Amino acid sequence: ERIISANLMMEEQAVELSLRPRYLSEYIGQSQVKDNLKVFIEAAKLRKEALDHVLLYGPPGLGKTTLSNIIANELGVNLRTTSGPAIERPGDLAALLTNLQEGDVLFIDEIHRLHRTVEEVLYPAMEDFALDIMIGKGPSARSVRLELPPFTLIGATTRAGLLSAPLRDRFGVVSRLEFYTVDELAYIVARASEILGVSVIGEASQEIAMRSRGTPRIANRLLKRVRDFAQVRGDGIVTHELARSALGLIQVDPLGLDSIDHKMLRAMITIYRGGPVGLDTIAATIGEEGQTIEDVYEPYLMQIGFLQRTPRGRMVTPLAYRHLGLPVPQENAA
Ligand code: ADP
Repeated sequence: ERIISANLMMEEQAVELSLRPRYLSEYIGQSQVKDNLKVFIEAAKLRKEALDHVLLYGPPGLGKTTLSNIIANELGVNLRTTSGPAIERPGDLAALLTNLQEGDVLFIDEIHRLHRTVEEVLYPAMEDFALDIMIGKGPSARSVRLELPPFTLIGATTRAGLLSAPLRDRFGVVSRLEFYTVDELAYIVARASEILGVSVIGEASQEIAMRSRGTPRIANRLLKRVRDFAQVRGDGIVTHELARSALGLIQVDPLGLDSIDHKMLRAMITIYRGGPVGLDTIAATIGEEGQTIEDVYEPYLMQIGFLQRTPRGRMVTPLAYRHLGLPVPQENAA
């Protein structure tokens, strides 16, 4: 039974991988980031140099990992992938760095979570392609400098603000990924449905796109759930009507808000009169992690103008009251 479930997981991963665009030309949206990268990649190739270090930031699921795969692919070099919390000691990072070949890309996801001691090893590696190693202990200890092949570090983070200044300054290219438009997401849904072999007709891809919170990962996820309903409850075809009812059944509202968004907004309105209220208080009230709210929920709610951040805390806007069908209190109406 174990083997069967393991196989299923591999199959799932395979689907995930097949949905990932592999070239810049297949990467939808983010045109400014894409256009700039195209130039930088081309220039690095012409000069036969490693691409400058790249920092990608933005909410989860917008395509940071995908883009770093594409960059390595377009450069024609190897990609090594790791994440901030996975590199526990300076030695772990040293092992990764010494295994790189000239021009390779090292991708560090969640780079804001690097340990301090590890981060310090990264500075000379990024700046001089060198590794400073301490040999021996006590008074006879000395530091030896090891040369590294030129490489490209791509760091990804949900919040660039959490990066230390010395680390941030060592990236030559800093790109912020934006939420996708509904049209871009509809295109991503159409592309994914072709890869998955499911027919999505009429306005269905637009409907899924509208409820995807500007995020390709969510668009792909919703498409898969809607496909389940089409196969089990329908004739396998995703029509507009089917998409709408399936998305309603999994509690994703017409703007893409789910039960946690609703719980949060309602709690802020009913208990705290719409705010201002601090993040920790909101988190404790609805039983979610503050970090999850800040990284995953809040950016989209702010994007659509439902939430405002003020120095005194978060506030619910009149737009959100209306969406929830609640009367806007007088003092908030202006
Ligand atoms: P992040 O690293 O920012 O959390 P990912 O790179 O893992 O996001 O992207 C999540 C999924 O969304 C990917 O598996 C990919 O299929 C899809 N995706 C992301 N960006 C795009 C894009 N620009 N065009 C098409 N699909 C995309």
